[in-house]
Amino acid sequence: MKSKVRLPVLLKLFERQNGRCCYCERFVVLSADYKIQQRSDAATIEHLRRRADGGTNQPHNLSLACKRCNQERGSLSWILYATFRRGEFLEFMEAIKPQR
Ligand SMILES: [Zn+2]
Repeated sequence: MKSKVRLPVLLKLFERQNGRCCYCERFVVLSADYKIQQRSDAATIEHLRRRADGGTNQPHNLSLACKRCNQERGSLSWILYATFRRGEFLEFMEAIKPQR
């Protein structure tokens, strides 16, 4: 995403999510300072459906995530990674287990 469009989008997401990461729910820092942008809690724009999987820049596909979560998620689906980061993974697996 071009840097001209990036900041307004970040601000909008920051406001929508009350400054919290969509995965770990911790507060993120939003700054124009390059050094601060390298911190693990720096605000980043996350594509819920990854661009590699055909995800777009449409608002419904964008979310605010801390740098750590954004980098750590890798190829996991956003819902799977969110449950993992919040420590709800086993509950999630139980919930989706086929009934016998
Ligand atoms: Zn996070």
